[in-house]
Amino acid sequence: MRTDRAEALRRPLERDPLAAGLAPDQLALLRRMPKAELHLHLDGSLRPATALELARERDLDAGMDIAEMAERLIGPEHATNQAELLLAFDLPIAILQDAESLTRVSHELVEDVATDGTRYVEIRWGPALHVERGLSLRDGIAAVVAGARTGTAAVSAGGGPGIVVRLIAVALRSHAPGLSVAVAREAARFLGDGLTGFDLAGGEAAFPDPRLHAEAFALARAAGLGITIHAGEWGGAAQVRRALAVEPARIAHGAPAVDDPALMAELRTRGITLDLCPTSNTQAGIFPSYAAHPLPRLVRAGVSATLNTDDRTVSALTLTGEYARARAALGLSMAELWRLDRHALEVAFLHDDEALRSRLLAEFDAFAASQADLTTAAGPA
Ligand SMILES: [Zn+2]
Repeated sequence: MRTDRAEALRRPLERDPLAAGLAPDQLALLRRMPKAELHLHLDGSLRPATALELARERDLDAGMDIAEMAERLIGPEHATNQAELLLAFDLPIAILQDAESLTRVSHELVEDVATDGTRYVEIRWGPALHVERGLSLRDGIAAVVAGARTGTAAVSAGGGPGIVVRLIAVALRSHAPGLSVAVAREAARFLGDGLTGFDLAGGEAAFPDPRLHAEAFALARAAGLGITIHAGEWGGAAQVRRALAVEPARIAHGAPAVDDPALMAELRTRGITLDLCPTSNTQAGIFPSYAAHPLPRLVRAGVSATLNTDDRTVSALTLTGEYARARAALGLSMAELWRLDRHALEVAFLHDDEALRSRLLAEFDAFAASQADLTTAAGPA
């Protein structure tokens, strides 16, 4: 088992069993196409080499070598539940307790997603998880903002189209409501620095009711942050419905909504987007296999949705890889995948710069105009 997990991180997409059968020209197109990702966690996306270096500097490495570190950071292919998958975040959070480490991993994540052809990304993390060694909420947020900025600059300096980054501050279901209010308040100070969203995440079984954090959501909304919430990694459609109480613009996951036609109708009516992550959901044991993920049914039922990795390292995955799997294992057509990708820009937390959203959409459209595979009117593959 140990070597299997680390191997998954290095394996080229051509040898990914879940992407088997994908035509080489389609894989090449998925690599090349400009991509937008809205659901990506900083602490689930560390480079193993960086994690090892930071852990050694902080005396947290326990004698691990790089292979052992990779094993620690990658989640099980099939956990028994969400809580088991969340264990993969313990070491990254222990490592990331100072500004230097937060800035570095943020910078590197921006570079990594740009290398994968991502043109727009929203990176999220829980500022209140990084204060165990005395870092303040404000300094911790500033450290991630700084890493996003220098990472963006480094990508630009490398030539090519560059990358646009926005940040989402995550409050935790397990934390005291007052701490969530503090996160929302501090996050709102950075709205002008590209922090444009507020989220609630964490174990749903132990803390199912998001209304405990209603005050934090209200504060974030009033300050101008986009509202999203993790829901449906436990508890099925009822748990997704419960998330509607905080009036989110988007829901992270929410895939079990497919079991409740009335809920799907409500999502459509209210224009709420599900930021879906089939690989991560499979790892968390929500669905028995990748092929069983309801993404195609949700999309074809007209529910607003986007496709995302959730965690690049925990899931040993790139966004191109998730698109390749959705094509090969879920049977979405290239045109359906492209619509998901473009739609991410439409619902992105880019309300701080609508002109930039328009420019990105125009750029995506210009790319698609030269790719018949992406714009063909054909329905489901
Ligand atoms: Zn997530």
